[in-house]
Amino acid sequence: MIRHLLALAIFGAAPAAAAAPSAAGSLDTVAIVDTVDADTLPAGTVQRFWFRAGDSQLGQPWLVPVIVVRGAKPGPRLLVTAGIHGDELNGIAVIHELARLEPATLAGTLVLVPGLNTPGLLQSEREWTPDNSRAQPNLNRVMPGEVGGRGIDDYAGRLWSRLLRRNADAAVDLHTQSRGTAYVMYAFASTPRTRRMAELVAPDIIKLDRGEKGTLENELTRAGVPAITLELGRPEVFDDTMIARAGAGLRNLMREMRMLDGAITPLPPETFLSNDITVVRAPVAGFARLSVMLGAAVAQGDRIAVIVDAFGREVAQVTAPRAGRVNTIATDPRRGRGDMLVRIVSWSDDPKCAAGC
Ligand SMILES: [Zn+2]
Repeated sequence: MIRHLLALAIFGAAPAAAAAPSAAGSLDTVAIVDTVDADTLPAGTVQRFWFRAGDSQLGQPWLVPVIVVRGAKPGPRLLVTAGIHGDELNGIAVIHELARLEPATLAGTLVLVPGLNTPGLLQSEREWTPDNSRAQPNLNRVMPGEVGGRGIDDYAGRLWSRLLRRNADAAVDLHTQSRGTAYVMYAFASTPRTRRMAELVAPDIIKLDRGEKGTLENELTRAGVPAITLELGRPEVFDDTMIARAGAGLRNLMREMRMLDGAITPLPPETFLSNDITVVRAPVAGFARLSVMLGAAVAQGDRIAVIVDAFGREVAQVTAPRAGRVNTIATDPRRGRGDMLVRIVSWSDDPKCAAGC
């Protein structure tokens, strides 16, 4: 099997590598590959690979873990990815749990990538940081990348063309908020199909959104692979509640895709649909004490936070500029002027906002 896969591998842009098989071959019995073609793997098996996403400036490979669960029966391919931002960990545990699905119960293929941003994960940094934060580019803004390009473009291009795009009929990219902040369980969707996918996963809030260029979600959707971004709480932790909710939601999606038997189960809580977002920022620097909980419904004028100075003296009160639901909070009380305190999502009836303001 390993030999077969290596024979299929396509090697990098460098001419020297083009003729030679991957010299390492495997790492602790897991094959190192330059391309994954899930359709060529035998049905009814679970396969693990180290995908080579280019080389570091030390001439050593950047390795990305891949698990392919090939169902015993034919069906669609669902790609689930995590850790494109290196401090966002909950999705990794969701994928580790999905990888234990018994192939005999599965129709189709799960292509699982528990950690896309190897340098970011090493340093617990949101950005792609192979060079100790010199440039701090965002791997989730440079898709589809460019094989043979420099640095992050080559890394993204290899992921896109040799692993992600070619193995997906639908996709879910798992995230959390960044350091110092937290989300509810929250999904972005940009089309009717991706909205339906998000509803099946049953987050607290869905945000209809036109999407940002270069994100995995939007580039896949644009390329004909419906994809959602699913945010799972806070960074740098494994949160068992979030992990279990995401696992249950993804199973619902797989049932709708006829990858798993069984009826779609309604999952609590009821999802709040939004198409607009307001960022509430600290008007002055200081220590913020929030008055609202994550996920809370707020009315316009409700107190959001009190900001105190280094001596604990109140320097500002902040109120909600509009009604809606709190989808993000600052968990780190230290706030610079203009830093985010909370975000409030809401529904706008403006026709221009039908698919996201
Ligand atoms: Zn993220």
